[in-house]
Amino acid sequence: AKEEIPESTIFDKIIAKEIPADIVYEDDECLAFNDISPQAPTHILVIPKKRGNLAKLSLAQESDKALLGHLMYASKLVAEKAGIAESGYRIVVNDGKEGCQSVYHLHLHIIGGRQLTWPPG
Ligand code: 5GP
Repeated sequence: AKEEIPESTIFDKIIAKEIPADIVYEDDECLAFNDISPQAPTHILVIPKKRGNLAKLSLAQESDKALLGHLMYASKLVAEKAGIAESGYRIVVNDGKEGCQSVYHLHLHIIGGRQLTWPPG
């Protein structure tokens, strides 16, 4: 089934500082902030400042490769800054309906601060 991709999302309002967020990291291309509904002691979202076509990972094109790498590397830095790098953590990207994506602006979840389980539900 074809899903609706909204023109913009709540994350644009966070980027524009129109709604507050606990920002933990920022650079020219991305922003990281605490998830409003944390699933673990550390739950941070890393997003590109310009969504463009990246409403979801599955829409990524070859020209997005550098930005995707940037987001992944920034996530590693954010995990270090959050103090979970030693003990370990998880990076998750939910994609589309069956992936349980709810906000259509690409985001990496950084989840940690407790023992996680695998496989996911
Ligand atoms: P998804 O399910 O799309 O992978 O994840 C979206 C995430 O965004 C969820 O974990 C949800 O709690 C978080 N979220 C949704 N709205 C807001 C918001 O307004 N502020 C913050 N900080 N997080 C949000």
